[in-house]
This record gives sequence, C-alpha cells and structure tokens, in this order.
Amino acid sequence: MTSKKRNAADAFAEARAEQERREKSYRERALKIYPWVCGRCGREFSGKKLRELTVHHRDHNHDNNPPDGSNWELLCLYCHENEHSRDLEAEWYDGPTPGSGQKPFSTHQPFAGLDKLLKGGK
Ligand SMILES: [Zn+2]
Ligand SMILES: [Zn+2]
Repeated sequence: MTSKKRNAADAFAEARAEQERREKSYRERALKIYPWVCGRCGREFSGKKLRELTVHHRDHNHDNNPPDGSNWELLCLYCHENEHSRDLEAEWYDGPTPGSGQKPFSTHQPFAGLDKLLKGGK
C-alpha cells in the first residue's frame, strides 16, 4: 500500500524533472535558431563543449519562450553567470530557479529554498 501523500523528495524530483524537460525543449529550440556562439564573448561551441552554452532569457522570465526565440540569448556559462551575478540568479546553471525575485512562475513554490540549497555549492 502506498500512501496518497507523496514525500517531499518525490515531489521535488518531479518538479525538477518537469523543469528540466522544459529547459531542454527551449534550449534545443534555441540551438536550432541561433548559431552556437556565446553572445557576449563570441566563443564558438560544438560537440561536448556545447553543454557550456546556455540559454539566457533576455527579460529573465523563464516562462517567456516565444517560438521565434526573441527572448533567448545563447551565453556561455561564464558570461551567463556574469550576466546574472548582479541579482545572484541561478537560472544559468541547469534549470530555472523558482522565486528568484522577478516574476514567480507559480504561486505554489514549496521547493524554492531547497533548490537554492542544492545549488549552493555550485
Ligand atoms: Zn561567453
Ligand atoms: Zn540567464
């Protein structure tokens, strides 16, 4: 018998998976639209290095993913971190961070603190 109430770890893993799915889909789309070059430092990426190329949201709203890619910018990890160092947002690494101070993408954010904790060491 399984309890109806799932534990926080399960729910957290699920939320993360959902975020990663979404992140992946817009990243793939962005990589199709844009050349694989960092918009700041101009480095080119391919093969394994492509992992270091991340999708930045120009308006910092991760929910704003227009099909024409107008809200995206490809940035390398370093430039992306730089871009966000002003507000210490962690969206650049491997997924959007809920409750990062701009526009919350959900009113229900039980994982905001946990997410920060997990990313604390990066
Ligand atoms: Zn760069
Ligand atoms: Zn960004």
